[in-house]
Amino acid sequence: MNSQAAEYPGADADVVWRSLVFPAGYQNPTPADRYNLVVIGAGPAGLITAIAAAGLGAKVALIEKHHMGGDCLNVGCVPSKTLLAGATDGIGFERTMARMRAVRAAISQHDSVQRYRDAGVDVFLGAAKFLDASRVQVGAQTLTAKKFVIATGARAFVPPVPGLAEHALSNESIFELRKQPQRLAVLGGGPIGCELAQAFARLGTEVHLIEMQSRVLPIEDEAASPAVQSALLVDGVQLHLDTKVTAVEAAGVGKRLQYAPVDGGATASLDVDVVLAAVGRQRNVDGLGLEAAGVRFDRRSGIEVDSRLRTSMRHIFAAGDVCSRYQFTHGGCTRASWCANALFMGRARVDQLAGAVVHLYQA
Ligand SMILES: Cc1cc2nc3c(=O)[nH]c(=O)nc-3n(C[C@H](O)[C@H](O)[C@H](O)COP(=O)(O)OP(=O)(O)OC[C@H]3O[C@@H](n4cnc5c(N)ncnc54)[C@H](O)[C@@H]3O)c2cc1C
Repeated sequence: MNSQAAEYPGADADVVWRSLVFPAGYQNPTPADRYNLVVIGAGPAGLITAIAAAGLGAKVALIEKHHMGGDCLNVGCVPSKTLLAGATDGIGFERTMARMRAVRAAISQHDSVQRYRDAGVDVFLGAAKFLDASRVQVGAQTLTAKKFVIATGARAFVPPVPGLAEHALSNESIFELRKQPQRLAVLGGGPIGCELAQAFARLGTEVHLIEMQSRVLPIEDEAASPAVQSALLVDGVQLHLDTKVTAVEAAGVGKRLQYAPVDGGATASLDVDVVLAAVGRQRNVDGLGLEAAGVRFDRRSGIEVDSRLRTSMRHIFAAGDVCSRYQFTHGGCTRASWCANALFMGRARVDQLAGAVVHLYQA
C-alpha cells in the first residue's frame, strides 16, 4: 500500500479504480486514417455503442474526458446504491464508504480502458470537440470518421441561488466525503435527492430534504410520492416541501441556508455541515463543437434525435442522457445498442420496444 492509499478507508481501492478507468500516463493511440465510428463519451451509452460496433467488425474510436464508466459507475448508480446498502446494513459511515470504494473498483474492470482496447476499440482520453461534420479533435489529435455517436451524458444542474455554486456538493463530490456530516441539507426531492437523503439518514446524519413542489418525486408517478415520503419520514428525514432555498453562505466550518415557503412568507435559516444540490440534470452539450458539426440541440432538452437516434446530421447519432427524456442507465444502454444496430445493419427504432432486454444484457 503506498502513502496515498493509507490516507482514508478505501483509498487503496480508489488507486485501483483510477488506474482502470483513467490510467495516469496513458498514451492515446495513433488514430486510424478513417474510423467507421467515433463515439464521444464512455458512460453506459457510449460503452455499449462502442463495444457492440467493434463486435460487428467496425473500426471504432471511443473518447472519454473524465472516467470510463461515466456517471453510473463513478459518481452515480454504483456509489449511491452501495452507500444505501451499507447504511441499511448498519456498518457505519467509514466502513460504508470503504465498501463503496471497493465495489466501485471491482466493477471498474468491466468499464476499463484495457477491456475496451482488448475488444478492439481505440480508446482516447481527453475532451472531444467537433471541428466539422466529419472530424473530431481530442488533444492535438484529429479523428476522422464516417459515423459518430454523441453520448456525453448530463451533470448536476446548479440553479442561480446566491452562494449555492460555491458552497454545495453535487453527485460528483459527495462520494469523496472523508468525514460524516452531522447535519446535511439536500436540495431537491427527485430520485437522487431522495436516495442520498435516505442513505445519510440511515447512517445517522440529521438530514433536511428541501423540495419546491408539494411532494417528493414531483415528476414521477403520483402514487410513488406518498410511499417514498413515508419511508423517508420513518428514516428520520426532515421534509421541507413547498420550500425554496434563497441563499447559501459559509458559517464557521459549515454552511447556512436561507429558505422560505414558495408562496411567500417569512424566511428562516438552517445551519448544516454539508449542502447537496440535487435539483436536476443539465445535458453535456457545451464545448462539443455541435454548431461546427451542424447538430441541432437545446440546452434544456439536449440533442434532437429522431426515432432512429439520428441527429439533424444523418451520420451523427446520439444516445443516453444527452438526448433522452428518461435519464437512466438501462434506458441509455438499450437505446445505445439500437444505435449500433442502426449504424451497421438494421433499421431499429427506439419506439419499437421488442428485444430491449436482450440488447441490454448483450454487452
Ligand atoms: C447519484 C446518481 C444515482 C443514479 N442511480 C441510478 C440508478 O440506480 N439506476 C439508473 O438506471 N440510473 C441511475 N442514475 C442515472 C445514470 O447514472 C445515468 O442515466 C447514466 O450514467 C447515463 O449514461 P450516459 O452514458 O448517457 O452518460 P454519462 O454516464 O453521463 O457518461 C457520459 C460521459 O461522457 C463524457 N464526456 C462528456 N463530454 C465529453 C467530451 N466533450 N469529450 C469526451 N467525453 C465527454 C463524460 O465525462 C462521461 O463520462 C443515477 C445518476 C446519479 C447522478
